[in-house]
This record gives sequence, structure tokens and C-alpha cells, in this order.
Amino acid sequence: MEGYKVFQVGPLKVNSTILYSKGEAFIFDPGAESERLVQFLKENNLSLKGIFLTHGHVDHFGQVKRLKEVYPNAKVCLNRKDLFLLSEELWPGFATYLGAELNPSVDLFISEGDKFKLGNLTVEIYETPGHTPGSVVYFVPQLELLIAGDLLFKGNVGRWDLPGGNFEDLKRSLKRVFKSFPETATVITGHYDLTTLGYEKRNNPILHEL
Ligand SMILES: [Zn+2]
Repeated sequence: MEGYKVFQVGPLKVNSTILYSKGEAFIFDPGAESERLVQFLKENNLSLKGIFLTHGHVDHFGQVKRLKEVYPNAKVCLNRKDLFLLSEELWPGFATYLGAELNPSVDLFISEGDKFKLGNLTVEIYETPGHTPGSVVYFVPQLELLIAGDLLFKGNVGRWDLPGGNFEDLKRSLKRVFKSFPETATVITGHYDLTTLGYEKRNNPILHEL
């Protein structure tokens, strides 16, 4: 059994993804409602090996600490360039609003070219700065799945006006993603609806202005 399941969590509908194969699982961006993620892992007898963050924003890492209480051996993975963001709540009261805990500890720094095996699946890491300096996307070739964080949304692109954001980098990263992966790839965006690269290529008005 292998595949993925997306949970829209918290008031901002962050897309948290559980990727699984052969009884093992990775979770991407456990921003809120981690009890739903834990329930799925338990119901499917999955052992959690890794907690991967697309970037260091509190709405995406908000329940890393809670997950670690249940799965202390799961490795928390982040690009080092976003480490400075783990103590930031971005706006006063934002962490409380999200039910998030700041300052999770990181076990492993990931960077461009890293690959992780999960049963029959491979997770490839590409650095895609712009929304934050340490933003990455995760690509699973066997499933044509792109976990894109806040780089790309259905009909929109990530914002670049938060600490460490950079518009030129964002443009470069978006171009690279569209060049590197197939149009049929499913995109798990950072929030709200999922999409495909082909759909965005044809329909995303912001991309055409870049
Ligand atoms: Zn973000």
C-alpha cells in the first residue's frame, strides 16, 4: 500500500500531507489539527519516520512539537536558511490564533539534491526560495506529486513581502518548477485547493505577469 492523503488543517486551511509506503510515513507541514494526522497514522498502522517542512512559517510548523510528543523518533527536516523563522509568529497573536507552538527543534537540515527513500517511493528536494529564503519543494516521481508549500497556489503565487521574501527569487523558482516537472504533476499547494502544473500554466493569471 502506498499513496498520500491531504488534510486541510486550521483556520487557514493549510495542506498537511501524509505520504506512505510499506507501513512507513512522512508528514509534510503539520500546521494544525495534528490529532487528525495521528488518527490516520494509527488507523493505517503507519510508523512516522519524518516530519518535513516546506518552509519556516508558523502556520506550517505549528504542531511539529505535538507530533514529536507522540512520535519522538520522527526526524524534523527543514532547510537551514529558514531556521530564523521558527521563533517568529509573523503577527502578534498569530500563533495563539493558529493553536501553534513556536521553536520546534530541527533534527536534520535538508538542501538541494537531497533524496529520501520511503518504501517504494523517493522524495526529492529542490530549493525554491522567494516566499522565504529556505523554501523547498518536494517531488515524488513515482506519484508525479509536487508538494509546493507557499510557492504556488491555484490561481495565485506565494507572497514575497514577509521577512526574507524576495520577488526575483520567487519568479526564478516558479520558472524552474514549471521547467523541471511534468504538466500532469499534482501540486499540493500550501493552502486551499490543490492543482496541477498544466492547469496553472493555462489558467493562472499571475504567472503570465511574471
Ligand atoms: Zn508561508
